[in-house]
Amino acid sequence: MRYLVLSDIHSNLAAFEAVLSDAGEFDRIWSLGDVVGYGPDPNACIEQLKSRLHLGVCGNHDCGCTDRIDVSDFNPEAQEICQWTGQQLTPENRTYLLQRPERLMEGDFTIVHGSPRHPIWEYVIYTLNALENFEYFETPYCFIGHTHVPCVFQKTDDGCEVMVPEPDAIVELGEERLIINPGSVGQPRDGDERASYLLLDTDAMTCTYRRVPYPVYVTQQRMRKANLPERQIRRLSLGW
Ligand code: ZN
Repeated sequence: MRYLVLSDIHSNLAAFEAVLSDAGEFDRIWSLGDVVGYGPDPNACIEQLKSRLHLGVCGNHDCGCTDRIDVSDFNPEAQEICQWTGQQLTPENRTYLLQRPERLMEGDFTIVHGSPRHPIWEYVIYTLNALENFEYFETPYCFIGHTHVPCVFQKTDDGCEVMVPEPDAIVELGEERLIINPGSVGQPRDGDERASYLLLDTDAMTCTYRRVPYPVYVTQQRMRKANLPERQIRRLSLGW
């Protein structure tokens, strides 16, 4: 089976559509959360997902804009956008977000947004907190998002190593346990403005990392029209 594994679409339809057309044929999407928040097209992004075979967990923004969690820990602009997103959502799409679980297990894979220890909030950035998180899932591999930075943490005999895969890098799923982050579709934060995702092939047992350009200005224009904060508009051109 071929899975399109993606995270943090963040209501960026232009980026999501570029990923869908770049990915070619796949059997199913696994969405690691934060379908909405920041961008201008929350309903259209949810509807694109719903129109395809997929599984998805909830992220902090998905929960924030549906009042499932308290957003007072968000920065002020993220709070403002959460509120705006909540007002845009159709009742059906709000229900869709509310029904997403925090954690899924599919064969050899655990699927969460933040971390297996704290699925909604924890950022797995360093090898130290990655190492601790290997204790919190039982499958060989775990997919996470939330940091918007593509990377792979590998458990070793005496600790944990991190790899930062280049575009088109192929990561073999072998004996070692891995925590795998595909990066962000709609708001990359690693200095590369192109949408990031990966393709999982469970026959070959590989993950192929991909980067795809999309018309950033289209999303930016739609954000300006919706009066979303300027800093959040500009960061998309920087990939930061
Ligand atoms: Zn996010």
